[in-house]
Amino acid sequence: MTTFENLGLRNEIINAVDFLGFENPMPVQEQVIPFVMNETCDLIALAQTGTGKTAAFGLPLLNLISSDKKQIQVLILSPTRELCIQISNDLKNYSQYMSKTKIVPVYGGENISSQIKQLTEQPQILVATPGRLIDLINRKKVRLDSVQFLVLDEADEMLNMGFQEDLETILQSVPDERRTLLFSATMPKEIEQIAQKYMNDSKSISIGIRNSGSDNVEHIYYTVQASNRYLALKRIVDINPDIYGIVFCRTRQETKEVAEKLMRDGYNADALHGDLSQPQRDSVMNKFRIRNLQILVATDVAARGLDVNDLTHIINYNLPDDVEIYTHRSGRTGRANKKGIAISIIHTREQNRIRTIERMVKKTFKKESVPSGLDICKRQLFYLIERMEHVQINDEQIDQFLPHVFKKLDYLQKEDIIRRFVSLEFNRFLDYYKNAVDLNIPDKPNQKLPKERNYERNNDEKTSKRGQRIRMKINFGAKQNASPRAVLGLINDITNDKSINISNIEISNKFTFFDVFADQSKQLVNAFYRNNRTAFALDVAKEGKRQKQYHNEENNFYGNIHRRSKSGKSQRSNGNKCRKNRMSKKHF
Ligand code: AMP
Repeated sequence: MTTFENLGLRNEIINAVDFLGFENPMPVQEQVIPFVMNETCDLIALAQTGTGKTAAFGLPLLNLISSDKKQIQVLILSPTRELCIQISNDLKNYSQYMSKTKIVPVYGGENISSQIKQLTEQPQILVATPGRLIDLINRKKVRLDSVQFLVLDEADEMLNMGFQEDLETILQSVPDERRTLLFSATMPKEIEQIAQKYMNDSKSISIGIRNSGSDNVEHIYYTVQASNRYLALKRIVDINPDIYGIVFCRTRQETKEVAEKLMRDGYNADALHGDLSQPQRDSVMNKFRIRNLQILVATDVAARGLDVNDLTHIINYNLPDDVEIYTHRSGRTGRANKKGIAISIIHTREQNRIRTIERMVKKTFKKESVPSGLDICKRQLFYLIERMEHVQINDEQIDQFLPHVFKKLDYLQKEDIIRRFVSLEFNRFLDYYKNAVDLNIPDKPNQKLPKERNYERNNDEKTSKRGQRIRMKINFGAKQNASPRAVLGLINDITNDKSINISNIEISNKFTFFDVFADQSKQLVNAFYRNNRTAFALDVAKEGKRQKQYHNEENNFYGNIHRRSKSGKSQRSNGNKCRKNRMSKKHF
């Protein structure tokens, strides 16, 4: 078996990868490291992101540079600022025991003066986005005449983003005798042209099949009527309670709409699109990276800079027009030897496009049925049970309360207790999906299509039967920037009781309405009454004053909210903390 030691890397580098927990080289590293170290020609590597390619070029280049020379010897070009920062951070990690080695990232959207200042530190490795590098070249703030190695990372993305001209300018600004290492997930004609024009004698390495997706990715599609796309998305998310994924949309508008609907329906989602400012983008990406968000709804362009390795799913809300985009999207999951699932929601007329993509990526796509309400209920129920089984118990704190609880429940059998606990969490879910129609397009032509577009609608009859729930009202509405998170945060803050079960949050201009169990409503009213820190007043909503609208997707319906933290532990926190950490919000 190949090891980092027998690839001939310096001890400082081996110690660093050891420190980072890399046990063995990944396949791309097994091929690229010895090639860069021992050969002299150029390299064209067809490799997806997440395969370990940064270390594949980074480790041998760190091995080859002269740390004593204070000149840029390696220039790495990346399409986005996020990738630029990431490559630079990775290289800093790999060179943590090489004290004289300096790595500087330069990228757009950031103050150029501080980057110019960093360049005066005379790094050996410069990581740059093309636009910013051209700017620095024009200002004569960077010298590239000592570059021995040029790395073009995600070369296809650089071309997709319109950097062809900048790239050619840079290729002409580096010495002819440098070696070029080109990495690309796909190999469009334009890349081949660049390679022909600017690269010398080169070797091609392909990790995986040309234009194919990673072997770790399973490709699934669901066929529904176009108007049921959103409902199908919700069911896909509901059947995967642990989902951590990106939903790709075609336009900014669609991205905003889908994200807004998901948020309104109580999912832990947010949008990433070109209308956001850089700080807003950074903030969303950061929340997603640290898993404070479960679902990111994004356009392809906006998601470019986002590099997350452990996505469980990517979902094509619409199929992309270009098969290369499909490859890029699906390549965002199944990284670093993990399994991933690429889902496409399509309508009947798109079956042929699936066949075309299958041919191009050389993968068979599995057609699956949109899960029924019953399937979802089963999955969610077992998810709840699994969470209960694995919940961390804080003996010290909880023991003081338990004798009272045991005494109170003394008259119940074990089965009764389980039945009640499960019902407490689950009644609404069962209720919500009770009459869920089949969203699948029937195979037989004569079979009737489901008539209701949204089965969730017009279910008020069902909800009125829930005698034990009481509709509450608080004078905190959209005008005061109320959101489900803010409302829950406020309630948590004031009651300090996470067991209060809030559901069906509905926000109007001045008020927020929600349901609570009758026995908890009094506790809630009392807690607000006693609390004199806020001006918020909470009361039972008057019958008929406000219609419950929680089965209408177009309204601000927020369903039952699971309160749990990232770790799955139950969460008890003040409003702000709670707002930040709430992981999984689901509608029932
Ligand atoms: P990359 O394709 O360079 O973005 O790398 C994908 C992920 O794999 C990164 O999180 C790396 O830290 C990780 N990685 C790279 N090489 C190895 C290795 N040999 N063993 C384990 N993880 C690795």
